Amino acid sequence: MLNKQIRLAARPVGMPQSTDFQIITEETPELKEGDVLVEVQLISLDPAMRGWMNVGKSYIRPVEINEVMRAGGGGQVVASENPNFEVGDYVTGTTGVQQYLYAKGGKGLLKVDTKLAPLSKWLSVLGMTGMTAYFGFLDVGAPKAGETVLVSGAAGAVGMIVGQIAKIKGCKVIGIAGGLEKVDFLKNELGFDDAVDYRMPNLRSGMRRACPDGVDVYFDNVGGETLDNALAMLKMKARVVICGAISGYNNTDGAVAPKNYLSLLVNRARMEGFVVFDYADRYREAAIEMAGWIKKGKLKSREHIVQGNVDDFLDTFTLLFEGDKIGKLLLKIA
Ligand code: NAP
Repeated sequence: MLNKQIRLAARPVGMPQSTDFQIITEETPELKEGDVLVEVQLISLDPAMRGWMNVGKSYIRPVEINEVMRAGGGGQVVASENPNFEVGDYVTGTTGVQQYLYAKGGKGLLKVDTKLAPLSKWLSVLGMTGMTAYFGFLDVGAPKAGETVLVSGAAGAVGMIVGQIAKIKGCKVIGIAGGLEKVDFLKNELGFDDAVDYRMPNLRSGMRRACPDGVDVYFDNVGGETLDNALAMLKMKARVVICGAISGYNNTDGAVAPKNYLSLLVNRARMEGFVVFDYADRYREAAIEMAGWIKKGKLKSREHIVQGNVDDFLDTFTLLFEGDKIGKLLLKIA
């Protein structure tokens, strides 16, 4: 098979450019005993991928120059020398931005049942995105019924799940998102109690209007000024969950430190980061509970699927930072 791949050619400075990547086409290797060949159908586009392009210590090693760009994805087994995988099986895993994944020993592949839910859902609410929302919010945020929860990036993949889980748990939920369409979506389609458009002037007064008594749990996906303003809204014993900081991922001069961090001291509050991979041995538990909520109509998810091919990776990836999408961003290549 001819396999078209996107490889990292240079470490991006600021927003990634086309010159930071190269397109390579090569033959897939002959299968050896235990190995599996997957035709990649959907590629997951995640803000974290921007961090993987950088050198430096992190929770995962950086993508090397000339290596296939790392990405989650899903597809169908097209050849197998492994008794655990049959041709036609649907799988998810770290496929990379390429047409075919050669999985040595079938390592890292997870079989999924597309009769229970389409492949796109296994990459969003039932995949890493849903796991991030579930464990970040419930384990780190430790919400209690009646508390006020504020979530940024609320119309994004993780944020929209967090807000709905918070409603299921009996909390008052306020989302922060860019633009009136997203504000409307959060309130009228997902049942958030209120939503604030961070692109409007005076974010703090918008937050105060929506959370007049302050915030018990702030789930942060964006960092920067939004985090700073949220810190000023904390109630006694509040929890701030650091999930991500997308507003700073393309900064060329480092992250912006929050000025209001002493609010943690004043309010005896806690700010804690987490990495979803640490919960791998509990994914099943989360998937079962979330599947139940989906079945009962309590948890909705939305995917923004771009139809294209691997060459469309960069243009599609850029949508994460321009905000021109609602829900989980996926690139469909087959
Ligand atoms: P996403 O929210 O679906 O997409 C990113 C969204 O961020 C965009 O739609 C955009 O929405 C918003 N955004 C972009 N630039 C922004 C800016 N400058 N200021 C404020 N908002 C901005 O992505 P996701 O997959 O759900 O990920 C959300 C966060 O979780 C990311 O920070 C990601 O790195 C993190 N994450 C962490 C873990 C973990 O284990 N800790 C795992 C997965 C994801 P608007 O139109 O509203 O601006």
